[in-house]
Amino acid sequence: MIIVMGSRDPEAIAQVVKKIEAFGYQTHLIEGVERTVIGAVGDERGKDRLRSLESFPGVESVVPILKPYKLAGKELRTENSVCRVGNAEIGGGKFCVVAGPCSVESREQIIESAEIVRDAGATMLRGGAYKPRTSPYSFQGMEEDGLKLLREAADGVGLPFVTEVMTPEQAPLVADYADMLQIGARNMQNFGLLKAVGRTSKPVFLKRGMMSTIEELLMSAEYIMSEGNANVVLCERGIRTFETETRNTMDLSAVPVLKKRTHLPVVADPSHGTGHWEYVAPMAKASVAVGADGLMIEMHPRPEEAFSDGAQSLKPARFAALMNELKPYIALAGKTL
Ligand code: PEP
Ligand code: MN
Repeated sequence: MIIVMGSRDPEAIAQVVKKIEAFGYQTHLIEGVERTVIGAVGDERGKDRLRSLESFPGVESVVPILKPYKLAGKELRTENSVCRVGNAEIGGGKFCVVAGPCSVESREQIIESAEIVRDAGATMLRGGAYKPRTSPYSFQGMEEDGLKLLREAADGVGLPFVTEVMTPEQAPLVADYADMLQIGARNMQNFGLLKAVGRTSKPVFLKRGMMSTIEELLMSAEYIMSEGNANVVLCERGIRTFETETRNTMDLSAVPVLKKRTHLPVVADPSHGTGHWEYVAPMAKASVAVGADGLMIEMHPRPEEAFSDGAQSLKPARFAALMNELKPYIALAGKTL
């Protein structure tokens, strides 16, 4: 429910907040230029009690939030949110490029990668220390050693980094090292994990599940936000279709749909979206054109030696060239890198 306050009197607002909380609801105060609204989020079954607030001093109206994603949606919060990750910003007028290898493989590899992406102008480093692999016999990641190397590499170039967390138990440990926590496509509906990252103080990079709808992605963001963590960035990374030429079908239409439905920043990942390095640049440019707030791109110093996702990783020179090619598109979208 949205409680629209007719009064700006802090005492009247505090009384209404107290009452809503006594009903067992979380309150979200949004102070606009003209008026203050209070979002009451919680069990739908108690909404009649909230309606009774209409007769409370200072309350102008009580209206329902129609979408099921109360905190992620645009009914309660109309302004686009900006997610701050270390010295980087995702959303607003900034365009962000998160780049790096699929996996952390060695100290040399991640340090070299960090320098390459920094030199090319990327805003954030990526790299997996815990890898969700289809086969248990494939490389599973360097785990905590990988987190330490990511921290060293990121600090060396002055960029924040994002890395995947795969289990609820890992969340506090990964949050100790990382600037941003990634929820992978395969875990988008791991609700225990979503709640666990929602309880950390680190921003979350939430990737769309390969068989998930846009609404399901928004509901997963809602899980994280309902635990008190409002710093969520959504990522379109391709979905499963009957097409086999590409690894996934990159659903670029999800970007404008998400921009309409949510205030959260939206990033596109053409590396996992296509699975082939040749298609990364055209889909990256298209992502800017459809309104993405940023890109996630896999880059490896030597893709042919990569432990994972070599086929979709750009070589350093190709990545640097793409960063330059993107500039006019970013300017045309009215954003700055
Ligand atoms: C990744 O970012 O390396 C990754 C595993 O992505 P996704 O979860 O989108 O497959
Ligand atoms: Mn990958």
